[in-house]
Amino acid sequence: MEEYVDVVIVGARVAGSSLAILLGEIGKRVLLIDKASFPSDTLSTHHMSHVHYLAKLGVLEEVEAKGLRKINRMRTYIGDSFVEGPRDSYTIIPRRSHLDHVLLSKACSYDRVEFLSGWSVRELFYDKDQVSGVEAVDSRGETKTIHASLVVGADGKHSNIAEWVQAGKYGAHSPLRPVFYGYYHGIEPLIEPTTEIFLNEGRIGFLFPMEPGVECLGLEVHPEEFKEFAKNPAKFEETYQTFYGMERRLKHASLQGKIIGTPGVPNFFREPSGKGWILIGDAAHSKDPSTGLGINDAFMQSFLLAEAMQKYEEGTPWKEVMAEFKVKRDDRLMPGYRLTLDYIQSMRSWSKNEEALFQSMAANPMVWNKIIPHLPDLLKEHSADVPELYGSVEGEAKNFGLGKE
Ligand SMILES: Cc1cc2nc3c(=O)[nH]c(=O)nc-3n(C[C@H](O)[C@H](O)[C@H](O)COP(=O)(O)OP(=O)(O)OC[C@H]3O[C@@H](n4cnc5c(N)ncnc54)[C@H](O)[C@@H]3O)c2cc1C
Repeated sequence: MEEYVDVVIVGARVAGSSLAILLGEIGKRVLLIDKASFPSDTLSTHHMSHVHYLAKLGVLEEVEAKGLRKINRMRTYIGDSFVEGPRDSYTIIPRRSHLDHVLLSKACSYDRVEFLSGWSVRELFYDKDQVSGVEAVDSRGETKTIHASLVVGADGKHSNIAEWVQAGKYGAHSPLRPVFYGYYHGIEPLIEPTTEIFLNEGRIGFLFPMEPGVECLGLEVHPEEFKEFAKNPAKFEETYQTFYGMERRLKHASLQGKIIGTPGVPNFFREPSGKGWILIGDAAHSKDPSTGLGINDAFMQSFLLAEAMQKYEEGTPWKEVMAEFKVKRDDRLMPGYRLTLDYIQSMRSWSKNEEALFQSMAANPMVWNKIIPHLPDLLKEHSADVPELYGSVEGEAKNFGLGKE
């Protein structure tokens, strides 16, 4: 069976479905293909701090309709002390099975967008050196040939499309941190929904409030600890119990399902496009999830690509449009990438002396009186190797009135 479409998108999760929505809006004939069926989960937690993308895609209300808590505070623990503050916009933590399904349903609401569920793309077709379509196969071995002006690889970090077109990689760094996570019911909550980050002995714990009474707990451990945690899932909770206040807060809590883990996530950029093909989402750029940016970055790339395609329609040559797409993409992704790599490489445990001094300084108001006026300069000086850090703090502070004095 043969089909002709404007764009075939391989992978129908956050990258693929968001692009299909944007192309559906402008009347493109789109075929989304995924080997998975939906709703279904994928290996991912789901901290989403840039909800404006969901609003722009027209799905925010439906995503939030699950009764998700709106989180606008963040608390970071350093050993047994913590600092906490408000954020300028709220965060939500929707399960991927729900988020991906809402996005996909919205995409399929456009007349000219179709979805093939449970079909795996196994080959690309070429017209001379130009990619011109794909062959997909279902679980019974039935095949389909789809011809398209553009093939989009939104097929995740181990992208088949990227492999087949031999998309070059740059800025690559091997996985640095094993990640484990699980869903818990009944953890004693804080007064207000708050994202909690635990920095403890070089490990990073994440507590993400979802619906009332449900939290997602995550843990990045040292590379050599992967096997130990994978073999003995009870170690996850035991470690959490050593974090400040968590032994008490976990007392009446229960794990729903299993602790899920991965030895780590690869870090790279791929060349985003070539003749007849383009990559978006994790297929184009993957990084450690500790900074919780992957989903937002996938949306950003879809918006950027839809804008590029519009320019092409208006007469700008494809080569020029794609060169601009790459520059804009890298400009937007690189700061978060550098911050993430810097963050996950700092695996050192603080010394007993450092921790003891911090604990007593944190509790002493006279210290804060002295330090607060100098904090911005200290941060600038000590993050000279990742200037994005100061820049991102300053950017958020503007929303709290920085510069209005
Ligand atoms: C442990 C972990 C925690 C994370 N936590 C967060 C977080 O808190 N916040 C955040 O923003 N990001 C997080 N991320 C990152 C986030 O999951 C990814 O950035 C995001 O899933 C990328 O979406 P995508 O649509 O590009 O790819 P994916 O979600 O990987 O989807 C790719 C799809 O392509 C399909 N596919 C692949 N090959 C084929 C084929 N040949 N034919 C048909 N279909 C195919 C797959 O079935 C899949 O459905 C986390 C990642 C991990 C691993």
